[in-house]
Amino acid sequence: MRRARRKRPFHLQFRRMQAIIGAFICIAVFLYLVQRNVSYQPRSRLLEPADQDLLSEEIPEQEAECLILWQDDASGLSGLAMMESVLGQMKIPYDTCEGIQMEPEHLAAYETVILSMTQYNLLGDRLLDILDWTESGGGLLILYPPDGNGSFQSIAPQLGIQSLGSSMAVVEGLHFVGPLMIGGQEKDYKITDPYESSLMAVLDSDCEVYLESDDEAKVPLIWKKNQGEGTIVVNNMGFLEKAYRGFYSASYSLLQDVCAYPVINASIFYIDDFPSPVPGGESNYIQEDYGMNISDFYTQVWWNDVYNLGKEYGIRYTGLVIEQYSDQVEGEFQRNEDTQRYRYFGNMLLGAGGEIGFHGYNHMPLCLLGFEYGEEYESYRLWPSYEDMRASITELAGFCAELFPEERFRVYVPPSNILSEEGREMLSREMEDLAAIASIYFPGTVEYEQEFDVGEDGIINTPRVISGYVLDDYMQIAALSELNFHYVNSHFQHPDDVLDVDRGAALGWEELFHRLSDYVEWLYEAAPDIRTLTGTEMAGAVQRYDAIGVEREWSEGRLVLNLTNFLDEAWFFVRVNEGTPGTVTGGTLTQVQEGLYLLEAWQEQVEIEILQ
Ligand SMILES: [Zn+2]
Repeated sequence: MRRARRKRPFHLQFRRMQAIIGAFICIAVFLYLVQRNVSYQPRSRLLEPADQDLLSEEIPEQEAECLILWQDDASGLSGLAMMESVLGQMKIPYDTCEGIQMEPEHLAAYETVILSMTQYNLLGDRLLDILDWTESGGGLLILYPPDGNGSFQSIAPQLGIQSLGSSMAVVEGLHFVGPLMIGGQEKDYKITDPYESSLMAVLDSDCEVYLESDDEAKVPLIWKKNQGEGTIVVNNMGFLEKAYRGFYSASYSLLQDVCAYPVINASIFYIDDFPSPVPGGESNYIQEDYGMNISDFYTQVWWNDVYNLGKEYGIRYTGLVIEQYSDQVEGEFQRNEDTQRYRYFGNMLLGAGGEIGFHGYNHMPLCLLGFEYGEEYESYRLWPSYEDMRASITELAGFCAELFPEERFRVYVPPSNILSEEGREMLSREMEDLAAIASIYFPGTVEYEQEFDVGEDGIINTPRVISGYVLDDYMQIAALSELNFHYVNSHFQHPDDVLDVDRGAALGWEELFHRLSDYVEWLYEAAPDIRTLTGTEMAGAVQRYDAIGVEREWSEGRLVLNLTNFLDEAWFFVRVNEGTPGTVTGGTLTQVQEGLYLLEAWQEQVEIEILQ
């Protein structure tokens, strides 16, 4: 039976109304405050850059493990430069020698030899000495496909080659057959601008093929063959450029029973020009797809998607502030008083554990009169003096400190990735808190190219590897390469990528966001253990990586790593080609792929038992 409802007295109804109105007002005030100023609790960083003095112990001289034999031609020299960078950063001691100068009796001093040569004829009988040395336990890396005629043909059977085609193969895509690089087997990779790069080889069945072309021909691209007591690895790719370093570090790591090399272990996502003033007006692409202006699109769609993607994967974005978009390069730099959106976006970013760094008072790179931009950046103005550059950055620092008083601003990203030596000097002298400059990893025309290292001025170089939403074939290879070489993902995006036809605007935001999401999904599936860091934390990681010295002792099933400049952390990739790891002391080992492990060192000496 339903109970009859008693009519409420009027004063009770009125109170109820009051409560509802009150609640509405509270919500309205709350929403207003959220828009105006999302508050956040400052968090401590996972990793801070250390005092450089703590990392400056001299690294003991070591006997070279590897000998690079090179030829004085274009490919030979590219291969030499590539492997000097790769081995240098893997901290593997090496010597170099022009192939025609090699003294066979010196081979005995090395564990590995890399052949960066095009004409093996030049080696004469030395070629047989190298094969004998391999037979008795050496590790030989054929770095790139040499001239297939003459001497090479005569040793091809020892490299596992059954027959060689008469022409070179055009490799248009890569397919991983075996576990060599993390993230490799998840998908195939397309080659941008393919050419006749690789030997058309048919291999013996006792070769272990890791990588081949993704077409019918299945051209073998990286393979390993045991030769007597030794090992031969052939890299038949022929792409001797920075974007492929990870393919070469991986090839090298197959040569011995065990190979351990330091990595950075960091995944980072930067958002350039964020926060910054929203471009006025409308974009056809945005208007057509979403029926809103750019400002509303940024708040309601773009940031919402990017923010939620970050939440899903634990990404803590590093945003780089632009105070305004003038081309002013002298005079008094006025404070931008229109700060509502800065506070809204900035505090949300910080609230999610992100970080804010400097990009510029405006978007004029820090280059003085006389600097040559080239045609691409014709509209950029040059700064008349050091003092003007300094004044603009001082204003930016004041602006950021006013907006985000709890923050330290430790990362600088140069506008358009362009920075002059004078600009860098100004930053290092005037910005006391500055820890890192994050420009770009790959060479461009005038862009400021970096390696992951520490500059002589003490500022840490934390270059960005890939960018934008299109994430084309080349970027996917570069990402794979760096994930395996440095165990790094470093990506930057701009809000206005969505408006720029060259950066994919015509594809529409839905497709662009889909591509970014696909990339992030690939990354964290391939490397679920990678650390997601912000700009300052990345600087701390790169600084420790750059400083670490490693001496390897390998005997009787035990790998011992003796570290110099070990402060509080060090990370390594350890490839175990023979046996499996047993007890580890001084660190922890996590398998990241069959035969490949991530080592976290806890102390100066780490010992890994390898069970046969
Ligand atoms: Zn920018």
